[in-house]
Amino acid sequence: EARLTSGERLEEDHGEGALRPQSLDDFIGQKALRENLKVFIEAAKARGEAMDHVLFSGPPGLGKTTLAQIVARELGVGFRATSGPILQRAGDLAAILTNLQPRDVLFIDEIHRLQPAIEETLYPAMEDFKLDLIIGEGPAARTVRIDLPPFTLIGATTRSGLLAQPLRDRFGIPLRLQFYAVEELYAIVRRGAQKLGFALSEDGAMEIARRSRGTPRVAGRLLRRVRDFALVAGVAADRALADSALLRMEVDHLGLDALDRRYLRRIAEHHGGGPVGVETLAASLAESRDTLEEVVEPYLIQEGFVLRTPRGRVLGEPGWRHLGLTPPAGAAV
Ligand code: ADP
Repeated sequence: EARLTSGERLEEDHGEGALRPQSLDDFIGQKALRENLKVFIEAAKARGEAMDHVLFSGPPGLGKTTLAQIVARELGVGFRATSGPILQRAGDLAAILTNLQPRDVLFIDEIHRLQPAIEETLYPAMEDFKLDLIIGEGPAARTVRIDLPPFTLIGATTRSGLLAQPLRDRFGIPLRLQFYAVEELYAIVRRGAQKLGFALSEDGAMEIARRSRGTPRVAGRLLRRVRDFALVAGVAADRALADSALLRMEVDHLGLDALDRRYLRRIAEHHGGGPVGVETLAASLAESRDTLEEVVEPYLIQEGFVLRTPRGRVLGEPGWRHLGLTPPAGAAV
């Protein structure tokens, strides 16, 4: 079931390209990360070399893909994109690598989901720009080492903890994306509305920003839905319209959606506020553990609704408050 406030890319997001920032200066938020990137880009250009490999980590929808495209554009090089789950055989990767132009950017999304055999191919490619090809089969098989054009690998992952250490070590520039502040999302929503030619009031934009779960992808999605409601209702897009549109989409005043609330409620009502293991929670919600850990929990944890403890998840005070419940005496809060 598609969630409006999930940071994951959904079918309906194909239109989001129009809102993508095209340059580092155009990109709102992630200030420290952007300033660092700028230095590495300028240095690589000054030297005329491929930029060092970059690893972007952080929850879905925060701008990893967008930044990878911007890096290629600012370097003035080509951009090739693939993803961990798409690459099935070592030959798939070899075909891409041998077709790169010097200094191109190769973007691998969900790089924590690479097959081990493909990961092994990547090591010499990243380190020495060499590719080991196996020619022939059986006893006659032999390995030929070929040269690759120097390139920049940009990996993106929602789960840097799942990345093998040797792979992680080969990224010279590891960068972590943070959830966005409300003011940054406000700026993103305002700019998005402008690009869409949508007359959204300032307080309407603020309402969307506050309810976007710290995530630009969610902000863009809510913006497009509010615009639909405004169009159909034939009224001005102000705070009241935004509020009623978002409530109809079950996005509450803090931006939590039905699954978020179901998750919090489950810990409160079935597990006495926790601690409860993530596996148990996943099973009782009929959701995958990955969805909980990658999509649902990061924001809830950052906002203190949930705490991750060695013994499992515990409902935090804001979580109880949001559900309108009082923690029972002895709850782990
Ligand atoms: P990720 O790769 O981290 O899942 P994307 O780069 O695909 O995220 O970004 C998701 C959407 O959010 C895109 O439509 C993108 O244009 C928008 N977006 C991300 N970061 C920003 C930003 N800083 N400013 C404006 N829009 C952004």
